[in-house]
Amino acid sequence: MPELITPTPSGLYCAAGDFHIDPWRPVSRAVITHAHADHARSGCNAYLCAEIGRDILAERVGKSALIETLPYGQPTTLGDTRVSLHPAGHILGSAQVRVEHKGEVWVVSGDYNNAVTSPACAPFEPVPCHVFITESTFGLPIYNWPDPHQVFGEIRQWWAQNAAQGITSILPAYPLGKSQRLIAGLGDGPGPLAVHGNVQTFLPHYRRAGIDLPPTVPLRADSLADLRGRALVITSSAAQDTALLTKLGPTATALASGWMTTRAARRSRAADRGFILSDHADWPGLLRAIQATGAPRIGVTHGQLQTFTRYLRDNMDLDAFIIPTRFSGEAPASP
Ligand SMILES: [Zn+2]
Ligand SMILES: [Zn+2]
Repeated sequence: MPELITPTPSGLYCAAGDFHIDPWRPVSRAVITHAHADHARSGCNAYLCAEIGRDILAERVGKSALIETLPYGQPTTLGDTRVSLHPAGHILGSAQVRVEHKGEVWVVSGDYNNAVTSPACAPFEPVPCHVFITESTFGLPIYNWPDPHQVFGEIRQWWAQNAAQGITSILPAYPLGKSQRLIAGLGDGPGPLAVHGNVQTFLPHYRRAGIDLPPTVPLRADSLADLRGRALVITSSAAQDTALLTKLGPTATALASGWMTTRAARRSRAADRGFILSDHADWPGLLRAIQATGAPRIGVTHGQLQTFTRYLRDNMDLDAFIIPTRFSGEAPASP
């Protein structure tokens, strides 16, 4: 019997349901785990995503795209399969895709974060299955996230120290997901919280979805005077108008990412400070998620393919296999 979900040149494909999951080429029907660029590409005839992530996906693939949605946990029929979407805890609207066919259940995780609960999206939910396809971005034992409350305390302290010296704090972040997580955790700081570049793009969608985000000020020529020397500015790493940033007076830059775990990464990113904060599972989180599914077969994708697969085989006695991807995971600047 052929496998329920197989890798193809366009991405993961389910023949029994005639759909792709997170395809990287245009296909007729795409089920999307979340709206990050390495998972959601434009040009498909039809999309299916979690209801709460609809507007964000439309922002990514185009407002005229045909996007169908499902509330978390509610099944639908695609071909001969039953498909449902379950929270992945990664960004707003992120979903694990559960596919059931003749009693066999596969779950494709997309990117997920079960290490901590983020106030900016629904918490990860373990879904029992026979085959679990997991990401492995941080699939090495060195990745072990500290308590985010402590990390946010450290960021706020850094900001306060800067503000006390008239230095503006700059925090480059991925405009979808990481930015909102930072904003949600950084209200009540020593000065205004400002946003720059396309960080602004996704904020209204989060606010409309009922995510409680503290007030933010857009960085503009007319807000410079109020922000200079006291604000914390969250900017997309690829901000177009960097000229505005140079008008903020003396600045200090920090990065908040899982990659900040290693000294080498902190050094190579040329930031003044590095804070460990990720929207992906850490090593213990990956192992916990895998065990919670009860799945004897594990497909490993997006990240530490060889090392993680070997660990699951040798130490957890699981039938682990590699699922090749066009992407090796999100750029080190983002998660
Ligand atoms: Zn992602
Ligand atoms: Zn990803």
